[in-house]
Amino acid sequence: MTLSCFDLGERLLSVEEAQAALGELTPAPLGTETLDLAVALDRVLAERVSSPIDVPQNTNSAMDGIAVAWTGSETLRLVGEVLAGSRFAGTLEAGEAVTITTGAPLPRGADSVIMREQLDIDAATARVRVREPDTVRRGQNVRQAGEDIARGSLAVAAGTRLRPQHLGFLASLGRARVTVHRRPRVALFSTGDEVTAPGATLPDAGIFDANRFSLRGLIERLGGEVVDLGILADDCRAIHDALEAAVRDADMVITSGGVSVGQADWVKMALQRLGRLGFWRIAMRPGRPLAFGVLGPREVPFFGLPGNPVSAMVTFLQFVQPLLRRLQGETAWRARRLVAVADEPLSSRAGRVDFHRGIYTGGPDGRLSVTTTGPQGSGMLSSMLAANCLIEIDAARDHVAAGDTVTIQPFGELT
Ligand code: AMP
Ligand code: MG
Repeated sequence: MTLSCFDLGERLLSVEEAQAALGELTPAPLGTETLDLAVALDRVLAERVSSPIDVPQNTNSAMDGIAVAWTGSETLRLVGEVLAGSRFAGTLEAGEAVTITTGAPLPRGADSVIMREQLDIDAATARVRVREPDTVRRGQNVRQAGEDIARGSLAVAAGTRLRPQHLGFLASLGRARVTVHRRPRVALFSTGDEVTAPGATLPDAGIFDANRFSLRGLIERLGGEVVDLGILADDCRAIHDALEAAVRDADMVITSGGVSVGQADWVKMALQRLGRLGFWRIAMRPGRPLAFGVLGPREVPFFGLPGNPVSAMVTFLQFVQPLLRRLQGETAWRARRLVAVADEPLSSRAGRVDFHRGIYTGGPDGRLSVTTTGPQGSGMLSSMLAANCLIEIDAARDHVAAGDTVTIQPFGELT
């Protein structure tokens, strides 16, 4: 299927068609910078890191106890000790043991470690007796060199978003610095004559600007830097000038509001001279319509999100998120989806995807079940606070009965 973002016309698009069209628009990943590992959390790796060493470097003990060349003999002769950070100089013969601490390299000749709790050590005679010797298996409690990662093999792939465990793992290879994609600069503004900044006095017919704050949070959690352009009036000139300035050094431009049918003209006029624009009607609820385009000579991606606060967040998660991740080189990302049993009937209409705000829980039988957060108006941002997932009811279903299974998108690191 080849879909050009700009040839989709005014027909109703399915969610998959819109995502596929955006998927074809793969902007080149942003440039790179090299950072200290300590400040690289949540950044996307721009290099392939292979391990320069075996981890662990030495075959070593997983326990405090004794290292032995195990022959089954119940009594052993203690010939020394080896602590983590040091090495036993000699070679163990059958019948000999050394005391060893966790992480210390296994002496030459040793093949097994017996934990201290299983031993009677007589320091005076340098004898050690193993209790229940039948339970000892040759090779036990030994960590092999390279068992975590072998020298030369792939440690972390390019395009990986670095979680705390990646930082620890890279450190375990000795990496102090990593090359990551630079953070995208995202110009963000709200539109609407009625939209008022929090802190100002609410006009008689006004509404406070929620979207600039929820969208900022999503962008920042995704590693973006927000260039906050405030609130613009429903005025073609103002929008045009703000967009023209924004595209000069932004990597993406996001607006909310002002793209409803009948309102779209000013956006069209403002944008026509700055780039190419598509207005999409997407068969989903909440969330339509959505404007998408590229602006300026650098073809900066642009999203005009719906004004309703829930719609703005849901469309961001479904459509903006993948592109913002790809800009950072994170190409393999897919939304996480699980299956849950609906605890109540859910409203749904055939021909569109319905997203409900849901609360899922794990039952004692291991199955997930889900309910809605209650009233689902697309202006009711409180529904997003109560939720821990989106319930995604595909376009083929015209109803969901209690007991039916549904797909959920658990809220993750963003929400
Ligand atoms: P629009 O898409 O401009 O027609 O807006 C749809 C609804 O969302 C209207 O009720 C707007 O008042 C509301 N809205 C638009 N922008 C915002 C915003 N930034 N914060 C909260 N509500 C908004
Ligand atoms: Mg508006």
